[in-house]
Amino acid sequence: MLPIGGNIFVVVNEWHEKVLIHIRNYEKNSADTYVSTKKGIALDLNQLQPLEIYVNEIKEAISQMIDDVTGGPEMTFHLGRGVFVSFNKTYPTVDVRQRWKIPETNQIVSTKKGISLTYAKWETLKGNFPDVRESVPAIENTTPCILSEDHQNQGGMLMCSHCNPFAEPL
Ligand SMILES: [Zn+2]
Repeated sequence: MLPIGGNIFVVVNEWHEKVLIHIRNYEKNSADTYVSTKKGIALDLNQLQPLEIYVNEIKEAISQMIDDVTGGPEMTFHLGRGVFVSFNKTYPTVDVRQRWKIPETNQIVSTKKGISLTYAKWETLKGNFPDVRESVPAIENTTPCILSEDHQNQGGMLMCSHCNPFAEPL
Protein backbone atom coordinates (compact mmCIF):
# COMPACT_ATOMS: atom_id res chain seq x y z
CA MET A 1 0.00 0.00 0.00
CA LEU A 2 1.58 3.24 -1.10
CA PRO A 3 0.02 6.24 0.64
CA ILE A 4 -0.43 9.27 -1.58
CA GLY A 5 -2.15 11.50 0.93
CA GLY A 6 -5.31 11.51 2.98
CA ASN A 7 -6.81 8.04 2.96
CA ILE A 8 -5.87 7.42 -0.66
CA PHE A 9 -3.50 4.58 -1.45
CA VAL A 10 -2.08 2.90 -4.51
CA VAL A 11 -2.53 -0.85 -4.16
CA VAL A 12 -1.44 -3.49 -6.63
CA ASN A 13 -3.31 -6.77 -6.72
CA GLU A 14 -4.35 -9.53 -9.05
CA TRP A 15 -7.86 -10.25 -10.19
CA HIS A 16 -8.52 -13.21 -12.47
CA GLU A 17 -4.81 -13.36 -13.28
CA LYS A 18 -4.83 -9.75 -14.34
CA VAL A 19 -2.68 -7.21 -12.51
CA LEU A 20 -4.68 -4.23 -11.36
CA ILE A 21 -3.38 -1.00 -9.91
CA HIS A 22 -5.91 0.59 -7.63
CA ILE A 23 -5.92 4.26 -6.76
CA ARG A 24 -8.42 4.09 -4.01
CA ASN A 25 -9.83 5.56 -0.88
CA TYR A 26 -9.46 3.41 2.22
CA GLU A 27 -11.16 3.67 5.56
CA LYS A 28 -10.06 2.47 8.96
CA ASN A 29 -12.42 -0.04 10.49
CA SER A 30 -13.05 -0.53 14.20
CA ALA A 31 -9.98 -2.79 14.41
CA ASP A 32 -7.90 0.12 13.11
CA THR A 33 -7.22 -1.71 9.84
CA TYR A 34 -7.55 -0.05 6.46
CA VAL A 35 -10.31 -1.46 4.30
CA SER A 36 -10.96 -0.50 0.69
CA THR A 37 -13.96 1.56 -0.29
CA LYS A 38 -15.76 1.82 -3.61
CA LYS A 39 -14.27 5.26 -4.11
CA GLY A 40 -11.47 4.73 -6.56
CA ILE A 41 -10.38 3.25 -9.81
CA ALA A 42 -8.59 0.08 -10.87
CA LEU A 43 -6.27 0.39 -13.83
CA ASP A 44 -4.78 -2.46 -15.81
CA LEU A 45 -1.26 -2.22 -17.17
CA ASN A 46 -2.50 -0.98 -20.54
CA GLN A 47 -4.19 1.93 -18.74
CA LEU A 48 -1.48 2.62 -16.17
CA GLN A 49 1.27 3.03 -18.75
CA PRO A 50 -0.46 5.81 -20.69
CA LEU A 51 -0.85 7.62 -17.37
CA GLU A 52 2.94 7.56 -17.05
CA ILE A 53 3.42 8.42 -20.72
CA TYR A 54 1.18 11.49 -20.36
CA VAL A 55 2.79 12.91 -17.19
CA ASN A 56 4.35 15.84 -19.03
CA GLU A 57 1.14 16.63 -20.89
CA ILE A 58 -0.76 16.40 -17.63
CA LYS A 59 1.74 18.76 -16.01
CA GLU A 60 1.17 21.16 -18.90
CA ALA A 61 -2.60 20.83 -18.56
CA ILE A 62 -2.43 21.59 -14.84
CA SER A 63 -0.37 24.72 -15.36
CA GLN A 64 -2.78 25.85 -18.07
CA MET A 65 -5.64 25.30 -15.65
CA ILE A 66 -3.88 27.43 -13.06
CA ASP A 67 -2.99 30.21 -15.52
CA ASP A 68 -6.11 30.26 -17.62
CA VAL A 69 -8.52 32.81 -16.24
CA THR A 70 -10.94 32.45 -19.12
CA GLY A 71 -12.09 29.03 -17.97
CA GLY A 72 -11.21 27.16 -21.13
CA PRO A 73 -12.84 23.92 -22.12
CA GLU A 74 -12.28 20.80 -20.10
CA MET A 75 -9.13 18.91 -21.02
CA THR A 76 -9.00 15.15 -21.08
CA PHE A 77 -6.61 12.28 -21.72
CA HIS A 78 -7.88 8.83 -22.55
CA LEU A 79 -6.09 5.97 -20.77
CA GLY A 80 -8.10 3.30 -22.54
CA ARG A 81 -11.39 1.43 -22.18
CA GLY A 82 -13.19 4.60 -21.31
CA VAL A 83 -11.01 5.70 -18.40
CA PHE A 84 -10.25 9.38 -18.76
CA VAL A 85 -8.02 11.81 -16.91
CA SER A 86 -9.69 15.18 -16.81
CA PHE A 87 -9.14 18.60 -15.31
CA ASN A 88 -11.67 21.09 -14.35
CA LYS A 89 -11.40 24.69 -13.40
CA THR A 90 -14.07 24.65 -10.72
CA TYR A 91 -12.43 21.83 -8.78
CA PRO A 92 -8.64 22.02 -9.05
CA THR A 93 -8.12 18.29 -9.27
CA VAL A 94 -6.87 15.53 -11.51
CA ASP A 95 -9.82 13.25 -11.99
CA VAL A 96 -9.27 9.67 -13.15
CA ARG A 97 -12.63 8.24 -14.01
CA GLN A 98 -14.48 5.60 -15.97
CA ARG A 99 -16.86 6.93 -18.59
CA TRP A 100 -19.68 4.99 -20.09
CA LYS A 101 -21.67 5.28 -23.28
CA ILE A 102 -25.39 5.13 -22.79
CA PRO A 103 -26.52 2.31 -25.09
CA GLU A 104 -28.31 3.36 -28.28
CA THR A 105 -27.17 6.94 -27.86
CA ASN A 106 -24.02 8.92 -28.50
CA GLN A 107 -23.96 10.19 -24.97
CA ILE A 108 -20.84 9.48 -22.95
CA VAL A 109 -21.18 10.11 -19.25
CA SER A 110 -18.93 9.94 -16.19
CA THR A 111 -19.55 7.14 -13.73
CA LYS A 112 -18.98 6.87 -9.99
CA LYS A 113 -15.96 4.67 -10.65
CA GLY A 114 -13.07 7.03 -10.26
CA ILE A 115 -11.09 9.24 -7.99
CA SER A 116 -10.35 12.94 -7.80
CA LEU A 117 -6.84 13.79 -6.73
CA THR A 118 -5.72 17.17 -5.49
CA TYR A 119 -2.66 18.45 -7.33
CA ALA A 120 -0.54 17.57 -4.27
CA LYS A 121 -1.80 13.98 -4.30
CA TRP A 122 -1.23 13.76 -8.04
CA GLU A 123 2.37 14.87 -7.48
CA THR A 124 2.80 12.20 -4.81
CA LEU A 125 1.31 9.58 -7.11
CA LYS A 126 3.70 10.63 -9.85
CA GLY A 127 6.61 10.32 -7.43
CA ASN A 128 5.44 6.80 -6.58
CA PHE A 129 5.50 5.50 -10.16
CA PRO A 130 8.97 3.92 -9.69
CA ASP A 131 7.70 2.03 -6.63
CA VAL A 132 4.58 0.95 -8.50
CA ARG A 133 6.80 -0.34 -11.31
CA GLU A 134 8.87 -2.25 -8.82
CA SER A 135 5.83 -3.97 -7.38
CA VAL A 136 4.59 -4.92 -10.86
CA PRO A 137 7.47 -6.75 -12.55
CA ALA A 138 5.18 -7.68 -15.47
CA ILE A 139 5.18 -4.03 -16.52
CA GLU A 140 8.65 -4.39 -18.01
CA ASN A 141 7.37 -6.98 -20.47
CA THR A 142 4.18 -5.15 -21.39
CA THR A 143 3.94 -2.62 -24.15
CA PRO A 144 0.90 -0.39 -23.94
CA CYS A 145 -1.08 -0.71 -27.15
CA ILE A 146 -0.75 3.01 -27.94
CA LEU A 147 2.97 2.37 -28.55
CA SER A 148 2.42 -0.70 -30.71
CA GLU A 149 3.25 -0.51 -34.39
CA ASP A 150 -0.29 -0.90 -35.71
CA HIS A 151 -1.30 2.18 -33.66
CA GLN A 152 1.09 4.51 -35.46
CA ASN A 153 -1.64 5.37 -37.91
CA GLN A 154 -5.06 6.55 -36.87
CA GLY A 155 -6.84 3.63 -38.54
CA GLY A 156 -5.14 1.11 -36.27
CA MET A 157 -6.10 3.08 -33.21
CA LEU A 158 -9.72 3.32 -34.34
CA MET A 159 -9.83 -0.46 -34.74
CA CYS A 160 -8.61 -0.99 -31.18
CA SER A 161 -11.30 -1.65 -28.59
CA HIS A 162 -8.97 -0.36 -25.87
CA CYS A 163 -8.34 2.98 -27.57
CA ASN A 164 -11.72 3.38 -29.18
CA PRO A 165 -14.05 1.66 -26.72
CA PHE A 166 -17.20 3.55 -27.61
CA ALA A 167 -17.14 2.71 -31.30
CA GLU A 168 -20.19 1.03 -32.72
CA PRO A 169 -19.50 -2.66 -33.24
CA LEU A 170 -18.89 -3.37 -36.92
ZN1 LIG B 1 -5.14 0.49 -28.56
